[in-house]
Amino acid sequence: MELVIQTVYFIAALLFILGLKQMSSPVTARRGIIWAGVGMLMAVLITYFHHELIHNVGWMTVAIAIGGLIAYVSGKKVAMTDMPQMIALYNGMGGGAAAAIAAVELVKQEPMSLTIQSLAVIGALIGTVAFSGSLIAFAKLQGLMRGVVRFSMQQWLNALVFVLALTYGLAIILSGAQYEMSTLTIFFILALVFGVMVTVPIGGADMPVVISLFNALTGLAVGFEGYVLSNPAMMIAGIVVGSAGTLLTQLMAKAMNRPISNVLFSNFGEGGGGEAAAVSGSMKEIDANDVAVMMAFADKVIIVPGYGMAVAQAQHKVWEMTKLLQERGVTVKFAIHPVAGRMPGHMNVLLAEAGVPYDIIYDLDEINDEFPTTDVVLVIGANDVVNPAARTDPNSPIYGMPILNADYAKNVVVVKRGKGTGFSGIENHLFFADNTRMLYGDGQAVASELVSSLKELG
Ligand code: NAP
Repeated sequence: MELVIQTVYFIAALLFILGLKQMSSPVTARRGIIWAGVGMLMAVLITYFHHELIHNVGWMTVAIAIGGLIAYVSGKKVAMTDMPQMIALYNGMGGGAAAAIAAVELVKQEPMSLTIQSLAVIGALIGTVAFSGSLIAFAKLQGLMRGVVRFSMQQWLNALVFVLALTYGLAIILSGAQYEMSTLTIFFILALVFGVMVTVPIGGADMPVVISLFNALTGLAVGFEGYVLSNPAMMIAGIVVGSAGTLLTQLMAKAMNRPISNVLFSNFGEGGGGEAAAVSGSMKEIDANDVAVMMAFADKVIIVPGYGMAVAQAQHKVWEMTKLLQERGVTVKFAIHPVAGRMPGHMNVLLAEAGVPYDIIYDLDEINDEFPTTDVVLVIGANDVVNPAARTDPNSPIYGMPILNADYAKNVVVVKRGKGTGFSGIENHLFFADNTRMLYGDGQAVASELVSSLKELG
């Protein structure tokens, strides 16, 4: 039986790796998710036959059924725009589960080798921090917790709590199996408190990077606990999530043009520390018919989608509009900013869902030089990712973040409902520029109007 169990774990691990590989392209991502899911199901089912590990089968089954049902119902219901919170919550659960495994193993106080005991303690620390930190990230993104909590000497206090947690962890490792239960309890409490304290001062705009970092930490914790339980599927799943999460964190930090230390230990996202530059000029309105004519007679149009396109679910109409323009011989390209929307790849997912071919979708680096030679840029529901203040205003909270250079185009049309700001809550100078026109309305309604106007043009 042992051979069968280990073989199934091996196949499950293989499915995790192959699944993740497929997730790297939107074309195969859905299949990748299914493969990894099948791997997880296999790993869970075969664990029932692992008689040395498995006790309380009834309780376990009830817990899996309740958890599975909640995940299924909430997964079906969640709006695309609420996905980051959902990820933060699931991530927290992963970190918490790894920490719980460590707690169960450590509470037994059975002798372990120094290496295994060290891995159990380090996994517990990382998993617990990821758990409480992710819950705070969830509360912030869900709007349950507003603003940031900052006070003087905060970083020193955080460092003190961390050093204390490490000290208790070290005491547990060095005492073999002879530690007091109170030491273990204090260790977990310190780790929980540290997770909260390190996350509360971080501003909303940095939350995607933070969630990705906690995701990497959760993977690491699961990997360590996999060693403790001698479970290869857990080890591999944890390592895969840990390394993928680390790469994603680096990519996101690069997209925001900030080192990760700066995300964790600075005040970005809640004001750059000075007065933002005053806006001059006025917003000039345009109607859908005029925009349709502008685009219909252009050589090249670049569409910049943002969070508002997701809210309006305008992607299908935007694609219909694109096809009408292409039929007229207009070159149409989509420009995607790495943090457009509310989760990594948000815009790519929406455009893929609408059927937009990948070869007309470009990343920031690929397309930024093309704006000066573009006749019309249609910004639909995007704001922060095209805000020139990131380039020009050192006092702006988004200063230094690379943006799509929409303002360099010959004409810019911005579709939004009114004067609402973007995620970072700041004014956008692009909307006041001489070459910019505002086309007010809900993204989907406006895209429908543009489609009708283009059809009327024949
Ligand atoms: P944004 O800066 O949040 O701006 C979205 C704009 O869409 C708003 O100005 C809003 O203006 C407009 N809008 C809202 N609903 C609309 C609708 N139904 N129809 C038309 N327009 C609508 O979006 P973004 O440019 O995509 O930038 C993303 C921001 O989110 C960045 O600051 C990024 O750091 C942050 N963020 C990103 C992630 C990620 O992983 N991608 C995660 C969390 C946070 P009106 O209210 O006037 O319509």
